[in-house]
Amino acid sequence: MHMHWSIDIAYLVAAILFIRGIKGLTHPRTAVQGNLLSALGMTIAIVATAFVIGLNWWVVIAAMIVGSAIGAVAAVKVPMTGMPQMVAIFNGFGGGASVFVAWGELTQRLHDVGGVSGELAESAGVHAAMFDPQFVIATALAGIIGAVTFSGSMIAYGKLQEFKIFWNPWVLPAHQLINALLALITIGLGVWLCMADTPPMAAYVLLVVVSLVLGVTLTCPIGGADMPVVIALLNSYSGLAAAATGFVISNSVLIITGSLVGASGLILTSIMCVAMNRSLANVIFGKIDASKAGASADEVYEGKIKSTSADEIAMMLDGVQRVVIVPGYGMAVSQAQHAVHDLYNELEERGVNVEFAIHPVAGRMPGHMNVLLAEVDIPYEKLVEMDAINPQFSQVDVAIVLGANDVVNPVAREADSAIAGMPILDVDKARTVIVIKRSLSPGFAGIPNPLFALDNTLMYFGDGKKTVVDLVNAIKEN
Ligand code: NDP
Repeated sequence: MHMHWSIDIAYLVAAILFIRGIKGLTHPRTAVQGNLLSALGMTIAIVATAFVIGLNWWVVIAAMIVGSAIGAVAAVKVPMTGMPQMVAIFNGFGGGASVFVAWGELTQRLHDVGGVSGELAESAGVHAAMFDPQFVIATALAGIIGAVTFSGSMIAYGKLQEFKIFWNPWVLPAHQLINALLALITIGLGVWLCMADTPPMAAYVLLVVVSLVLGVTLTCPIGGADMPVVIALLNSYSGLAAAATGFVISNSVLIITGSLVGASGLILTSIMCVAMNRSLANVIFGKIDASKAGASADEVYEGKIKSTSADEIAMMLDGVQRVVIVPGYGMAVSQAQHAVHDLYNELEERGVNVEFAIHPVAGRMPGHMNVLLAEVDIPYEKLVEMDAINPQFSQVDVAIVLGANDVVNPVAREADSAIAGMPILDVDKARTVIVIKRSLSPGFAGIPNPLFALDNTLMYFGDGKKTVVDLVNAIKEN
């Protein structure tokens, strides 16, 4: 592909904007600007690319309008708790796009070579240049990774959407053997594609089909609850597929963006695994063993649960100095963040120091709580990370646990528990703990939580949003 120097400059500017954009996303204060920078980078990259290959402008503009419209509708309509599903679909489409781009380029080159008579092509070295190792290897990789990403992401979407047939792990007899066999066949087809004098189209098509099946068999045995980690991993794969496609069509900006997505997806996967104290292999091949959690719910809770009411809590909060709110998945589901903001205002107005303790895997995606609290303008400095707040819980008058469960479960400190070693927020060390949730049902890990039965814990049962609204009213009346 012949490229004018100005195109290279445009690609360089786009790449710099992408990197600045990702940097911006690391802090809520700069996140919006980061998003805009990346979007600007993408626009520059698209326009520059359209110049290189002389695309029909109307097609480019129409595609951008349709794509932006779909993105805008998704951004407005999809609730925050549905974000992992949306990311799953978008990742899948990214993988699928890589499959088609490599397919299109291969078809084009086969067609071009077909147009030159065999001998002439050989003597002119055209054939060798068309199907050099970079091209064929990248085509095989784009096909394999892209197809695995596509079908894997669709299954992940189904599981997250809690479609009944997908949620539970599906395990075939000798499942790992079947996966290994499929992987070997895929590699074999890849080798066929790369070694043949002229890459056979049949090899590519078969490779894509087998990879699609592999994506399904790899993702099916993983329980729906582990899907967020799998999605971060598939996100990384979609980046690798895009980078491979960049090599197929010799497009440097695609290689750069693909690598950025590949690397950041992998870093995110690792952060999530560390925060759950599980290895990636354990997420992919194992599952949380709830049966390991010694004590049953009855043993843990029987006769030890004390419940409270909005009025009682309002009285208790009168005159305290320091309150820490621990949000979790239940705050997200009940969309309680606006009510939480009102609670924050009421208490701060009364001279109480209110902070939020943020666990890295509270909710169902990284940064879930930060996003919800930023949405209602809670000042960033009031969000305190786990490591910073933990040593201070003994000086906290009241800890309000709002729809969080696993991230405050003290059994994580016991070596033989199902969540052993998972870092938790030490709320049990606060003078009084108030837990807001609808019932005594377990959280994501499916195990009872002895925090609810502690002497210093009071349960305030009900929907997250309704209970906080009632509490705010009770404080106002108090
Ligand atoms: P949990 O899933 O442990 O618990 C959430 C609690 O919220 C439930 O016990 C439920 O109790 C309560 N709840 C549900 N709906 C409502 C409602 N409408 N109103 C009030 N309460 C409600 O959440 P945590 O945030 O504590 O922990 C997150 C878990 O998710 C961890 O185990 C983590 O490992 C896992 N995870 C997190 C990821 C991430 O990136 N953040 C990714 C993958 C997994 P009840 O039904 O009684 O109301």
